Amino acid sequence: MYNTAVPTHSLYIHWPFCPYKCHFCPFVALASHDQFMEQYHTVLVQEIERYAAFCTRKQEIKTIYIGGGTPSTYPCALLLDMFDTLRKVFTIKPDAEITIEVNPGTVQSEQFMIWKQAGINRLSIGVQSLNDKVLRSLNRHQSIDDVTWLLHEARAFFDNLSIDLILGLPDVSQEEWKDIIKTVVQWPITHISIYFLTIHENTPLYFKVKKRAVTLPADDTMVDLYHWTVDFLEHHNIVRYELSNFSRPTYESQHNTVYWDREAFKGFGLGACSFDGMQRLQNEKRLMEYLEKGKKDEDLTTFSECLTDDQIYLERLMLGLRRSKGVSFEALAQGMPFARKDLLQERLNLLVRNGFLVEQNNVFVLTPQGLMVENEIVTQLSVLRA
Ligand code: SF4
Repeated sequence: MYNTAVPTHSLYIHWPFCPYKCHFCPFVALASHDQFMEQYHTVLVQEIERYAAFCTRKQEIKTIYIGGGTPSTYPCALLLDMFDTLRKVFTIKPDAEITIEVNPGTVQSEQFMIWKQAGINRLSIGVQSLNDKVLRSLNRHQSIDDVTWLLHEARAFFDNLSIDLILGLPDVSQEEWKDIIKTVVQWPITHISIYFLTIHENTPLYFKVKKRAVTLPADDTMVDLYHWTVDFLEHHNIVRYELSNFSRPTYESQHNTVYWDREAFKGFGLGACSFDGMQRLQNEKRLMEYLEKGKKDEDLTTFSECLTDDQIYLERLMLGLRRSKGVSFEALAQGMPFARKDLLQERLNLLVRNGFLVEQNNVFVLTPQGLMVENEIVTQLSVLRA
């Protein structure tokens, strides 16, 4: 069970409903289940209230992230009701970062005002690509027109707009990717997340790849495009601060920073994850079970794991190396016996000498060369457990 004595300043709220299921999607996302939205909302609100009732004092909230699924399909009256509950049971700081994920083609113009009224001040827009044909072939039903309309309308209400893009989608040429990046830097956005396409097992895309029905770009091509993208964005004042995340100055995602700093956060909803500083927990992932348990006021957690010193070390290493500000020796060596600390320092220094890391004041940052073999570097350093 989540340790309610731990002060939690960040909340994640999961809205699992989607108008369609994209062929690459590994998330807890449900298409054709809209008839359960209202019931789900009721159980979600009860889950929030129950958690708050267990807390010894009212938690002060600095970030809220409504993710999915497609949260832009959360009916406005229900969304406002959920925010009423949040404000009743938590103290939401006036400058809190409150993000909602939005998918183009799922929004009506009246929603922007309601979101603003609810206190939302940041949109994370799932653009993914500007190639409508490719998106349609992956069962994602949105068009460039949807994206441009959304940006234009949203801009009147929100100045903090983030977009998600996927690098490595099948049938998107190198030139086309560069054109996409050249286009998006002209948009009124503050933040870009760029994810390498990952083929998740048992997704329709996984089976297409297995049958060789689609061709994916070569790894080398993706690496070259990634480096080109980093340089191009930097040239336009959109700077990488994490392997997949780029922002204009001061617009780094505060909510994601909580994850990367390994601070506590509480998740609510279907399959939502939480971290209380010691344990990682996950809620029930099956909708019917979630609703049943919620109605009976039962514990919704189906997975919890108290992290070992080794796991904590590995998390610090992996999360730290992904960030442009790097990871300090001090943070990595915390709790290590002396002999291992020496070995860690030695290995880090060797990686510096070989050009995979740079070091300043004993803080280590991956070089462009190191970024491309990040997994191998993590593996090399992961043998040095706490
Ligand atoms: S919209 Fe997002 S969450 Fe929904 S199916 Fe597509 S990728 Fe998954």
